[in-house]
Amino acid sequence: MQALTNRKRVLVTGGAGFLGSHLCDRLLAAGNDVLCVDNFFTGSRDNVLHLLNNPHFELMRHDVTFPLYVEVDEIYNLACPASPIHYQHDPVQTTKTSVIGAINMLGLAKRVHARIMQASTSEVYGDPAVHPQPEEYWGNVNTIGPRACYDEGKRCAETLFFDYHRQHRLDIKVIRIFNTYGPRMHPSDGRVVSNFIIQALKGEPITIYGDGQQTRSFCYVDDLIEGFLRFMDTPAGITGPINLGNPGEFTMLELAEKVIRLTRSSSTIEHKPLPQDDPKQRRPDIAKARALMDWEPAVPLDEGLDRTIAYFRGRFFG
Ligand code: NAD
Ligand code: UDP
Ligand code: UDP
Repeated sequence: MQALTNRKRVLVTGGAGFLGSHLCDRLLAAGNDVLCVDNFFTGSRDNVLHLLNNPHFELMRHDVTFPLYVEVDEIYNLACPASPIHYQHDPVQTTKTSVIGAINMLGLAKRVHARIMQASTSEVYGDPAVHPQPEEYWGNVNTIGPRACYDEGKRCAETLFFDYHRQHRLDIKVIRIFNTYGPRMHPSDGRVVSNFIIQALKGEPITIYGDGQQTRSFCYVDDLIEGFLRFMDTPAGITGPINLGNPGEFTMLELAEKVIRLTRSSSTIEHKPLPQDDPKQRRPDIAKARALMDWEPAVPLDEGLDRTIAYFRGRFFG
């Protein structure tokens, strides 16, 4: 009976998305009950299809901008479109999802005394003037630009988390996620990794925005989820924010060359205009995550790309 009483009831909002579905997998494998809440804006039942027969898994269609009354022990709040194409599709809804969604999930956590984690983002640093980005850096965000609905929504969500912590003593955890890739990425969300892989597999030109000298740091999804779980298990009072990402930094040109090589593609490179407010560089300083929970990414970019290429090949080019 001991095992039964130790089983946690964990709510994952955005659980049918890319990261959320991997998190659900890991939480179930660790012996928890998982309630996955999603409005299927960018996520899909396909991502959790393999879990639907699991008696410890429950899928609920719900929009987090509306109140949610359930009984849970822990909450991971991931609900929010993450790619520029998706979050700019309905920017007002994006801000509502981050801000009202956070208020509702914090209200829920307050009522049931649940520990709650917020999936924040490296975008809170905006187009950073400090490189690499430590958690102390306050960021450089254009409040009225096309990325602001996402960036400012996520910044306000962090504010709400810390105010609920100070005002209502909530047990919060805030992680700042840097670019992450892997199987179950949305094929048409315009993200650089999925775009390049699909273009390479189709033999179409690889679209580099701008001169391709801008940098990003790419973390393989399994490494990131390990970081989620370890941080959630740190003692109460350790709130973050904490950076989670892979410090390996690459230009988009280097990424394109890697993808072409790993897919053995004949694709050429085509330059397109750089989107407005596109950050020039991004790399996490993960010293805190290393020191606090002995966490660092283990999957090198080439290996993670191989696994992601295999996924896209199997799913869309089989
Ligand atoms: P995703 O789009 O695959 O997942 C987001 C999920 O949230 C989707 O399933 C979507 O349907 C759901 N959703 C959106 N609005 C909702 C709403 N109002 N109510 C309920 N569900 C809603 O994206 P992802 O890459 O898995 O991102 C998950 C979280 O991690 C997001 O909060 C994102 O901001 C954050 N994040 C991701 C990355 C990354 O590189 N993937 C980087 C930084 C932060
Ligand atoms: N809320 C929710 N589920 C709950 C408890 C609260 O969705 O189990 C929502 C509630 O609708 C409210 C929000 O969370 O709008 C914030 O709740 P809180 O108790 O902090 O504020 P108040 O209800 O006093 O506005
Ligand atoms: N990018 C690109 N070609 C693409 C898609 C994206 O060159 O087909 C660039 C984009 O301009 C940005 C980087 O790749 O500089 C990462 O873009 P993504 O949308 O994946 O993530 P974010 O900008 O949110 O970090």
